[in-house]
Amino acid sequence: MKKEFDKVWEECLEIIKDNVNAQSFKTWFEPIKPIRLQTNVLTIQVPSQFFYEWLEEHYVALLKKVIRKELGPDGRLEYSIVMENIYGVKPYTVRVPASNKKDTRNPSVNMPLDMSSTGTIRNPFIIPGLKRVTVESNLNPDYSFEHFVEGDCNRLARSAAYAVANKPGETSFNPLLIYGIVGLGKTHLAHAIGIEIKKKFPAKTVLYVPSERFTNQFIDAIQNNNTNDFVNFYQMIDVLIIDDVHFFSGKEKTQDVFFHVFNHLQQNKKQIVMTSDRAPVDLQGIEQRLLSRFKWGLAADLQPPDLETRIAILEKKAYADGIDMPRDVIEYIAYSITSNVRELEGALISLLAQASLNKKTLNIDLARQMIDKFVRNTAKEVSIDYIQKVVCDYFNMGIDLLKSKTRKREVVQARQIAMYFAKQLTKSSLATIGMHCGGKDHATVLHACRTVNNLMDTDKKFRHYIQELDKKINLS
Ligand code: ADP
Ligand code: MG
Repeated sequence: MKKEFDKVWEECLEIIKDNVNAQSFKTWFEPIKPIRLQTNVLTIQVPSQFFYEWLEEHYVALLKKVIRKELGPDGRLEYSIVMENIYGVKPYTVRVPASNKKDTRNPSVNMPLDMSSTGTIRNPFIIPGLKRVTVESNLNPDYSFEHFVEGDCNRLARSAAYAVANKPGETSFNPLLIYGIVGLGKTHLAHAIGIEIKKKFPAKTVLYVPSERFTNQFIDAIQNNNTNDFVNFYQMIDVLIIDDVHFFSGKEKTQDVFFHVFNHLQQNKKQIVMTSDRAPVDLQGIEQRLLSRFKWGLAADLQPPDLETRIAILEKKAYADGIDMPRDVIEYIAYSITSNVRELEGALISLLAQASLNKKTLNIDLARQMIDKFVRNTAKEVSIDYIQKVVCDYFNMGIDLLKSKTRKREVVQARQIAMYFAKQLTKSSLATIGMHCGGKDHATVLHACRTVNNLMDTDKKFRHYIQELDKKINLS
């Protein structure tokens, strides 16, 4: 025979079923377990605090109605919240009476739990003891989409980021993982998502946190015996942006707790954004179960900025600083600094400092002096772009022409020479070189290198070109 509370709850469910859609019923009511009925108080067990908050926000009126219907006007509901036992902490339940207020707005920000037996839930970002938990998003307003220059090198990541910002939790990009080497704009894009969401959905709780800080907070939580508070805090975030997750590598306990938070947020359609310095497949020291979840969404990479993007970034930064930069100076920097955006910015800033501190005119000569010093310090590798520029300048030809499909003799020759130098002076593959030189395949590049070698042996004038060009490229 069924226990009485089972029966009461079953009847409640019957009514609820008629009043909510099938999906919500499955998500929010099926997991509930009735556990006791004592003098008109029905206690139901819910899987987490978040779950409880959700019920209170969305279904409290309905729940109250059905309880009164089943148990009479004095009927009341009480929740028992299971605090997940994941750190060997003894599981415990918190008993909370159902809200008596008509409407509890924003329960994910208001922390209505009175957990006097365990202290109040501690937000690791603020001084404990405050009743109302406001989450400081930690977003840097400079890192907005408006300040992010789009280019071929970042198009996928930027579009995905933008899509996520417009529909947090509702795209298939959940989680969104942005990866790439240092200085390419991962942190910038991550902030941009948060800023945009805050703008469009001010009620959403957005949190940006570097993985290192997450780890340190977790360690503190263990020491202070409040890992449950830590987990609860992270589980109520609507948009969790977690920077540099490669930092979790080898930190098993942190990965455990992150896994837990991750699952909770995912299941509740909360948006997760992560960045990492490498692709998921290359993330060593990260547990498989976590890695496989990273792959549920989208992993989008950032590539080193191409020439056009570098120029656009420099122009934008100069413009934002109100500086009128001569075009040849911008180009000089863009051609010389190719590895990443941070160095590009660094070069620009040093140049500006140099010009203003020493009261020098900002011109190409100053740029040369400065950048050469700067570049030598950062072990410069000549870029294909730069080689092309020197070759084109030498033959007095536009770069566009060199990159075109034209088969005019002079152009073909210049193109072959550029390919030859690219092979000699860069680590790029034949295929990459071909791609940069008018979309040719690797065989064409190989052929070009042979032709140049042959001509150097047989054609004195041609040899002279090559020697001169060699000096120009290596002098830079
Ligand atoms: P990462 O996190 O990948 O190491 P950051 O996001 O810190 O790189 O970027 C380094 C610097 O370069 C920041 O100042 C950022 O604003 C700038 N930056 C990177 N990419 C772009 C871009 N596409 N447009 C404008 N600025 C950029
Ligand atoms: Mg970063």
